[in-house]
Amino acid sequence: MSSTHPHPDQPPLDLGTRLIRNGSDPLDPHAAAAPPLYQTATFHQPDPLHNGPYDYTRSGNPTRDLVQQQLAQLDGAQHSLAFTTGMAALTAITRLVPQGGRILAGDDLYGGLWRLLAQITAPSGIDVRFVDTTDCQALQSALADGADLLILETPTNPRMRITDVRLAARLCEQVGCLLAVDNSLMTPLRQQPLALGAHITMQSATKFLGGHCDLSGGVLSVNDSKLAERLAFHQNAEGTALAPFDCWLLLRGLKTLPLRLRQQEENAQIIAETLTQQGEVKNLRWPGALGSHAAQIHQSQCSGSGTVLCFETGSVEQSAEWIRRLRCFSIAVSFGSIESTVSMPCRMSHASIPEEERRAFALPEDLIRISVGAEHGPDLKNDLQQAFAAGRRLRSFAG
Ligand SMILES: *Cc1c(COP(=O)(O)O)cnc(C)c1O
Repeated sequence: MSSTHPHPDQPPLDLGTRLIRNGSDPLDPHAAAAPPLYQTATFHQPDPLHNGPYDYTRSGNPTRDLVQQQLAQLDGAQHSLAFTTGMAALTAITRLVPQGGRILAGDDLYGGLWRLLAQITAPSGIDVRFVDTTDCQALQSALADGADLLILETPTNPRMRITDVRLAARLCEQVGCLLAVDNSLMTPLRQQPLALGAHITMQSATKFLGGHCDLSGGVLSVNDSKLAERLAFHQNAEGTALAPFDCWLLLRGLKTLPLRLRQQEENAQIIAETLTQQGEVKNLRWPGALGSHAAQIHQSQCSGSGTVLCFETGSVEQSAEWIRRLRCFSIAVSFGSIESTVSMPCRMSHASIPEEERRAFALPEDLIRISVGAEHGPDLKNDLQQAFAAGRRLRSFAG
């Protein structure tokens, strides 16, 4: 990688440059521009008494090592681990807590994490408690009872609630609690949880990092070597490391992450403005449209507003009808893809949270979530506008 090492007199290379230029294998004897895919389960040993650098892909693979190096650069971390899915990565975090230990989790979580904690972690003999991490007092008193791990998301999805990560890190430090932040929604290009004081940062690589809806993956990054070793032990023992081909796809995705994110954010701005002008749109939720206190905290720790927006229409039927009229937004769960998508979280991504819980979390049934892609912005804007206009015409005929 000699070409990417800056001359001592030159400024260090930007992360975007490094993601493109360091994404090939410096040890490849043929200097292939794209990294070779080591699609192999085993590696031949030179001798029965001596191992090479790799022996078995579950435990280590050069394509995975390369993507893990790139992910560590992205997270500003010493160590990164790539998992088969975001959920596998989150599961590995829960393995850090012994039986009889306690996990505190934000009360506004990704549905899959809620299910993992409530239905697998808690029944396995770990005390799981949900707490409003946006409320400093509530968090402080929950931590005062003792906890091994606090896990949170900020902004939350889809409610876009903001936790002060620096403050949470300080409170955790006082009681010796590990802090893990799920950063899937903002990406490390906009928010760096480790720099804010978290011990572990996690992402679903299925979302922005892959970016093309063609792979599932998860990432954990840490600075502490002991913590990295413990997580790597579980990754190997439980067989949850990302497969070589998916590592290779992820390497390709990472090269265009800055480019995609810029275009998607630009489109999200256009869409937020378009939605604000529609009388049908209630309670637009987007980090760029937060009330002043939450916005202040968000801006102090994150350099963007993201590309996921939510709003309500007043009824489930009206939300569904509006969605059916869209042409440039696919009806799909997930977010962060170059393709724009639309969903109704209560019926789709968050359906694994029981209805009573959803009500307790104030997750409205008619909520619409848009994940803005990288298409031509005006096409997206026109599509949203025609869907609202068609609805108005129908209502005026009916009325
Ligand atoms: C999607 C998602 C996950 C789970 O990731 P998978 O790759 O689907 O397993 C976890 N947290 C958040 C915030 C997510 O959006």
